[in-house]
Amino acid sequence: MATLFISDLHLDPARPQITTLFENYLAGDEVRHADALYILGDLVEAWIGDDDDAELPRRIAEATRAVHDAGVPVYFMVGNRDFLLGEAFARRAGMTLLDDGAVHGVQGRRTLLMHGDVLCTDDVAYQAVRQQVRNPQWQAQILAMPLEARRAFAAQAREDSRKHTGSTMESIMDVNAAAVANAMRQAGVTRLIHGHTHRPAAHAFELDGLPAERIVLGDWYEQGSVLRVTADDVVLRGLATA
Ligand code: MN
Repeated sequence: MATLFISDLHLDPARPQITTLFENYLAGDEVRHADALYILGDLVEAWIGDDDDAELPRRIAEATRAVHDAGVPVYFMVGNRDFLLGEAFARRAGMTLLDDGAVHGVQGRRTLLMHGDVLCTDDVAYQAVRQQVRNPQWQAQILAMPLEARRAFAAQAREDSRKHTGSTMESIMDVNAAAVANAMRQAGVTRLIHGHTHRPAAHAFELDGLPAERIVLGDWYEQGSVLRVTADDVVLRGLATA
């Protein structure tokens, strides 16, 4: 049996073929026969609240609910694009919310699960923004705004993010090796799975004298990306659009 991981789909009405790829993948045999499906953040390009009445959230909930109803647990961890996704939507979508940094037994191995942004400690400007937007009072203020105002606010936040990403060195936006080691040490694991950086790879290294690995999920901008974990193998692969 296999456990499946995806992240950084950045679903957006502007890329309808990726939304269709997501729906088709979740309806397909691999997902329906999996032990579990994990979505490790940035499922959507922008999430403005569980009360959003747009088409995309409704389609996502239908797709994940059907996986849950088929007997496959669906776990969801928020990323830096969908941190406003909460219990109300998760219930509707048949998803179980996970905290960033949760440790799960995955195919017999304790595995640390993160979105990945907290590991990018060299990006000081980003970490300051993150601290602000994860503040419950700030979030309550945003969620109290009318939907239209929140849509405009999200568009501005994406523009700010694009500017920051465009003007910041690639190395600064990657994970910090010491932050990775600390997180794994604290969790007592030798395997970490995360997304966020859009640099899909399996990195092998030594952690306190033990063989360790950090597996990075890929984004879904041009195609899909899936990690399949079995008892004796991890396979990262792309998914082509129709
Ligand atoms: Mn992210």
